[in-house]
Amino acid sequence: MKTIVITGAASGMGLCATKKFLSQNWNVVMADFDSKNGQVKADSLSKEFTNSKVVFKQTDVSDAESVQNLAAFSHKIFDKIDAIINNAGIFVSGALHEIPENSWDKIMNVDVKSIYLMTKSFVPDMIKNKSGVIINTASVSGLLGDYNMAAYSAAKGAVTNLVKSMALDYGKYGIRVNNVAPGPTNTPMFQKNPQETIDKFIAASPINKIVEPEDIAATMYFLVSDDARSITGQNIPVTAGFGIYISQPQ
Ligand code: NAD
Repeated sequence: MKTIVITGAASGMGLCATKKFLSQNWNVVMADFDSKNGQVKADSLSKEFTNSKVVFKQTDVSDAESVQNLAAFSHKIFDKIDAIINNAGIFVSGALHEIPENSWDKIMNVDVKSIYLMTKSFVPDMIKNKSGVIINTASVSGLLGDYNMAAYSAAKGAVTNLVKSMALDYGKYGIRVNNVAPGPTNTPMFQKNPQETIDKFIAASPINKIVEPEDIAATMYFLVSDDARSITGQNIPVTAGFGIYISQPQ
């Protein structure tokens, strides 16, 4: 039985990915800053999915010691970690000059540095095992600019390019690395937008929808599975067609 560590697993895409992997009989280590929600979700999922094991570990992905503790915890319970999903992320709004310095530092730490810390803690064992799969959650905001998204675009732009270097450096050890780049997706993070903004995003999709977190989870599962054995170093947009046009859909 295979084991995956998923960050940001207490909510949204990370929670959906947890359910997807459990439904396919993977063991899951759920990591999240939100210990209350995370533990409640893990307890309920362990009753629902009895063929595999799901555990929760409170983790701040931007803190080196906390990520090291997550790795020690995961390796103590499971012999081998087959895959990790670096999914935890935050959003900071504003034009560049309006963003407080501590918010800039925070988004860089949570959305970008976290991948460095997770890599330092989990990849050495994958190198020893000569196998592993890494997925990072990037964003369409790493590919396109948008109003009041300077810090988020910069952070996700870094993740968009990082995947290539990771795939190059770790390919020789049998480790594949890919990004999923969601468009506007119906999670608690996105639901904070006013309805007017949500309607604008729906109208900007040629198929008139926003992405559901289950769609992201399905893509993550595919990219981790052996069906994707020839895919590495890619940034896979899952956007409901958002941003593919010059003229807006009519
Ligand atoms: P969400 O807010 O529903 O879930 C994010 C989870 O990350 C939360 O449970 C939160 O507690 C956790 N988290 C935040 N900071 C953390 C930290 N320091 N350490 C550990 N956990 C932490 O959001 P979501 O929409 O599911 O977002 C998942 C990923 O998708 C993020 O990286 C986000 O940037 C990205 N994304 C979201 C959208 C969207 O429209 N929802 C679009 C593109 C990309």
